[in-house]
Amino acid sequence: MTRVAFIGLGNMGSGMAANQAKAGHEVTAFDLSAEAMKRAAEQGMRGAASAGEAVRDASVVITMLPAGQHVRDVYEQAILPNAPKDALLIDCSTIDVDSARTVARDASMQGFRAADAPVSGGTAAAASGALTFMVGCREQDFADMEEALKPMAKAIIRAGDAGAGQAAKICNNMLLGISMIATCEAFVLAERLGLDPQKFFDISSKASGQCWSLTSYCPWPGPVPAAPSNRDYQGGFAAAMMLKDLKLAQEAAMNSGADTPLGGGAQALYAELVDRGHGGRDFSFMLQMLRGAVQ
Ligand code: NAD
Repeated sequence: MTRVAFIGLGNMGSGMAANQAKAGHEVTAFDLSAEAMKRAAEQGMRGAASAGEAVRDASVVITMLPAGQHVRDVYEQAILPNAPKDALLIDCSTIDVDSARTVARDASMQGFRAADAPVSGGTAAAASGALTFMVGCREQDFADMEEALKPMAKAIIRAGDAGAGQAAKICNNMLLGISMIATCEAFVLAERLGLDPQKFFDISSKASGQCWSLTSYCPWPGPVPAAPSNRDYQGGFAAAMMLKDLKLAQEAAMNSGADTPLGGGAQALYAELVDRGHGGRDFSFMLQMLRGAVQ
């Protein structure tokens, strides 16, 4: 029987851990929040009193935590001193590449097999087991990582060695942040020019301006019924989360000497949206800020 220790049962982790339990794995859960622990117990998971206790008998340890500092602390203080040496260690949080590499190096020096495996897909995909995982690990460890991630996944792709999963994630989200702003700007200009937004959508979605932000996640309400723009920009992928990922991308660009001016511009615009108090709205709410329709 696979014994999974799951640490971090927030919006994403709770659904992911539940899918491990549904797959018949014995899941021991730990979160600092009492409410998250209660939810885990209701879903049939065993609760642990600490992260160290949760990992003690684990064959797989999965973390889904807010940021790099949390992951470094939990690895250093709880996982590495307490987990069995043959346990697979998988961090699914979105964190900076340097933290991911540090954690993997420390784990490997102590004889563990470790991977960074951030995800694409939001809370709905986490709950339905349809996440895409971008994995950074040694090639010879990938088959076991893949097996451990399967109950939570739609797709699992090895990006390269330690840190490569995080690199893929932040490059993808920088592209997404920029393409969403570009899509919003095009709608703003179309509106000012007196062009019907639906007509603009019909044309551009079949022309060279076509992109995911336009055709799958349209920020203008109407053309794509499932998009958060039709639900007053509630749910979906929060603007504050996009800002976090854009900051990680800019940090990585600075550290590696990459020139990413549009990534920098996207970060500044999302910072403004969050500063104006809209960090909890879906990131496509950028449209309304650029239209001048919000405070
Ligand atoms: P969240 O804030 O809902 O959950 C994080 C959980 O970690 C919380 O329940 C918190 O109590 C717990 N936690 C913090 N420190 C801890 C510690 N030391 N020990 C145990 N538990 C601890 O965040 P989330 O939305 O679930 O996101 C988690 C990660 O997934 C983030 O890195 C985020 O960037 C990434 N992500 C989120 C989404 C999304 O749509 N929400 C999508 C893709 C990736």
